[in-house]
Amino acid sequence: MGHNMNTFLTKGAKNKKVEVMGLNKPKVVILGAGYGGMMTTVRLQKLIGSNDAEVILVNQHNYHYQSAWLHEPAAGTLHHDQTRILIDDVIDKNKVNLVIDTVTEIKKDEKKVVLENGREIDYDILVIGLGFEPATFGIPGLKEYAFGIVNVNAVREIRQHIELMFAKYNNVQEPKEDLLTFVVGGAGFSGVEFLGEFVNRVPELCKEYDVPREKVRILSVEGSPTIMPGFDKELVDYATNFFERHNVELHTGTLLKECTPEGIKMAKGDDIIEVKAKTVIWTGGVQGNSLVGEAGFEVNRGRCPVRKDLRAPGHDDVFIVGDCALIMNEETGRPYPPTAQAAIQESYVLARNIKKLLDGQTDLEEFVYQPKGTVASLGEKDGIGIIGNKKVFGGQAAFWKKVIDNRYLFLLGGMKLVLKKGKLNMF
Ligand code: FAD
Ligand code: NAD
Repeated sequence: MGHNMNTFLTKGAKNKKVEVMGLNKPKVVILGAGYGGMMTTVRLQKLIGSNDAEVILVNQHNYHYQSAWLHEPAAGTLHHDQTRILIDDVIDKNKVNLVIDTVTEIKKDEKKVVLENGREIDYDILVIGLGFEPATFGIPGLKEYAFGIVNVNAVREIRQHIELMFAKYNNVQEPKEDLLTFVVGGAGFSGVEFLGEFVNRVPELCKEYDVPREKVRILSVEGSPTIMPGFDKELVDYATNFFERHNVELHTGTLLKECTPEGIKMAKGDDIIEVKAKTVIWTGGVQGNSLVGEAGFEVNRGRCPVRKDLRAPGHDDVFIVGDCALIMNEETGRPYPPTAQAAIQESYVLARNIKKLLDGQTDLEEFVYQPKGTVASLGEKDGIGIIGNKKVFGGQAAFWKKVIDNRYLFLLGGMKLVLKKGKLNMF
């Protein structure tokens, strides 16, 4: 691993007071060091001089993590340290002040942000990049009993929990099928990518814990008639075939209705089926961070429909980036799905727009999303996707997925970061 574990501190470690930096400079406060916030910071530091603005990046942890890789450490096929990067390694400390703390409230009318320890930071320009949280649609028990692939701490727990289930299996009396029954609720991209990793991990776990493979039951529960609803049929068929070959029970056209300490209830037509399972992973959808709606911004599933220049409606001093922003696809009349790809593209325009505001210009640039394609991994060596207009399958898709992951690291921290944290086993 590139970093000693102790270098990744969590939020208890507050860093030095921010008020010491340039008192009279305009204050740009960036909330969240996800794809959107981190890339905006890195782009902005290239565009401004150290006297142009006081830039403060507020994040829960001293590390940035790539949410788009989290299904791998959740399944245990990649160490979580490879998905995270010390923020100090990519920011220019002469231009950016990192505050490690949790935002608890945005007071937009007072132009202030409240942090967990009670401290407030005021701003001239605010960027909200606080990311996603699971959408549970009021389904009973999900918040209490299901796991979510949401951040580094969550996926560490999932991996450990899965291993514990295998370790327990040979230590307890019958009935014990629930220990090795794994339910994944929702087979969109996150559910499918997690399952793709997990089916590769299961044979290793079976070997390590002396468990026959046939004792392990993996269920995917998806409300739509197919997995990955809306995606290209040929690619969906390929993924369906992959999971059937790996003995995943695909319950399509089936709604997860409830999660309990014992397992789940799912509805197939009029039938309610109960499944006893000690592991339920919810990948049924995401919404924008609740703080955005709580602050009084207009939201749709937690996402604020931003103006073309990425500012919040009615707020010339507030930009919103990534999964907290809702951007319409004017051709389809539907919002673009929340993706890292969109967050990264937005950050380029956003940084240039902040620079313009700092320079006193008002003709801000309009953001136009340019989808480059989508690739979903099915474990390390398989996958499906569309690159431009071309469909890719199998090893070729897996290769492209790694290119995409490495490209992001390159944009963030150049070749040095690719070599340190990248996926270099390309084939
Ligand atoms: P995030 O990346 O979620 O970052 C938000 C940041 O804010 C985090 O650092 C968090 O710690 C911090 N934060 C949150 N709340 C607070 C708070 N209160 N105070 C302080 N800090 C806070 N998209 C793709 O384009 N391609 C993919 O292949 C892909 N794969 C995915 C796989 C999985 C398993 C998942 C879950 C998502 C995937 N996505 C993918 C979607 C992508 O991860 C998100 O769209 C992207 O992470 C959004 O970026 P963001 O900057 O808005 O927020
Ligand atoms: P999603 O909304 O894309 O998929 C959720 C799935 O859960 C849907 O198929 C939905 O029908 C299903 N579902 C919802 N409620 C259900 C219920 N009660 N019972 C059964 N099924 C139910 O969410 P996601 O997969 O978490 O993805 C979130 C975002 O991240 C999306 O924008 C996605 O495109 C993006 N993402 C992209 C990639 C990639 O590009 N490789 C990978 C992962 C995620």
